[in-house]
Amino acid sequence: MTEKTFPLSKEQLEELALRYPTPFYLYDEGGIRKNAGEINRAFGAFPGFIEHFAVKALPNPFILKILAGEGFGADCSSHTELLLAEMAGIRGEKIMFTSNETPAGEYRAARDLGAVINLDDFTHIDYLERHAGIPDLISCRYNPGPLKSGNAIIGKPEEAKYGFTREQILKAYPLLAEKGARRCGLHAMVASNELSLAYHVETARMLFELAVEIKEKTGVRIEFANLGGGVGIPYRPEDRGVDYRELARGIEDAYRKIVVPAGLSPLGIRIEWGRAVTGPCGWLVTRAIHRKSIYREYIGLDASMADLMRPALYGAYHHITVAGKENAPPTETFDVVGSLCENNDKFAVQRRLPKIDMGDFVIIHDAGAHGRAMGFNYNGKLRCGELLLQSGGTIVQIRRPETAGDYFSTLDKTTLDNFKR
Ligand SMILES: *Cc1c(COP(=O)(O)O)cnc(C)c1O
Repeated sequence: MTEKTFPLSKEQLEELALRYPTPFYLYDEGGIRKNAGEINRAFGAFPGFIEHFAVKALPNPFILKILAGEGFGADCSSHTELLLAEMAGIRGEKIMFTSNETPAGEYRAARDLGAVINLDDFTHIDYLERHAGIPDLISCRYNPGPLKSGNAIIGKPEEAKYGFTREQILKAYPLLAEKGARRCGLHAMVASNELSLAYHVETARMLFELAVEIKEKTGVRIEFANLGGGVGIPYRPEDRGVDYRELARGIEDAYRKIVVPAGLSPLGIRIEWGRAVTGPCGWLVTRAIHRKSIYREYIGLDASMADLMRPALYGAYHHITVAGKENAPPTETFDVVGSLCENNDKFAVQRRLPKIDMGDFVIIHDAGAHGRAMGFNYNGKLRCGELLLQSGGTIVQIRRPETAGDYFSTLDKTTLDNFKR
């Protein structure tokens, strides 16, 4: 069981909404720091441990600064994400550049920042050499194919577009060494939002065994294993989160059994967690603005899937509470919906909830990762802003809501006015 809480009372929300009208995202700095501390305590003893926070999960430089303060690096997948990391003062090897189908300019940007480039394909060895040069330190992403099962979000590894096959990766390292690479990392990310501890330990074991095989077959010594992201969070109250210490113990056990006897220790351990770090520490705060009774009962919110797309995209569950009615019995069944002209714009389908009055604050939980980040402007919807509840208790706006001006800013007004047809 995981208790679903929200850090502000209904009265505090009423006051906050006078300054910042709903909808908005609220992130809890204290919660993020506590979580980061637990990750550091669980994994900090591994050699060269770095958690590269997956920037895509919560691409806000204020949050990245908080995480950098906890010693975290960044995992970036595009030029803009590299800029975000740089804005937060994260540089050099603290950045993993794990991208795919990468344009040449993005490889150059990663090289200029000294980021660790994590290649996604064998052909990118040549491509990188031509466009940016082979750096001293380089990493490759492994796709185990049918050797490992996947899950609903990423899919089966053999159907996933990412990474090198086993054969390719065994050829890649000697080739990279020949082209001048002197230090090599190995990476895999094979599942997303996976709550099974055994699954993640198994991924570590798979990478450790591959590192040993690479050394035996090619003579190339792998310097670090990056286990990727994908650690799940308990979206449903009945879910149980991953115990970091237990996970670290499982990985340590595999390390002792595989890495140490092969003479590969110290092998650095890196991770790229996004969701697990900030997911539970963010909420989408909305208000109920309409109730509609047709064949089903609907609650219409002032937010839409343009603010939070996971339920529509993956059928993902996000827990919903109503401020001030946390302990009220769930007496009604609603589809909780947004205003897009898209019938899958539903935050919840046939959800049991307390009676909802118009104007009530409807809180959507576990929206701190892959939430606003996935927002979009379809239907001319403007994405909402982001607030940070700081450790001291004060609330600051860390991104304002979009305006119509932002939406039109990519159009050239003069050209438009002169465009007579
Ligand atoms: C998305 C992603 C992550 C982060 O995944 P989470 O599920 O948020 O932990 C890390 N690494 C790569 C390569 C990714 O694509």
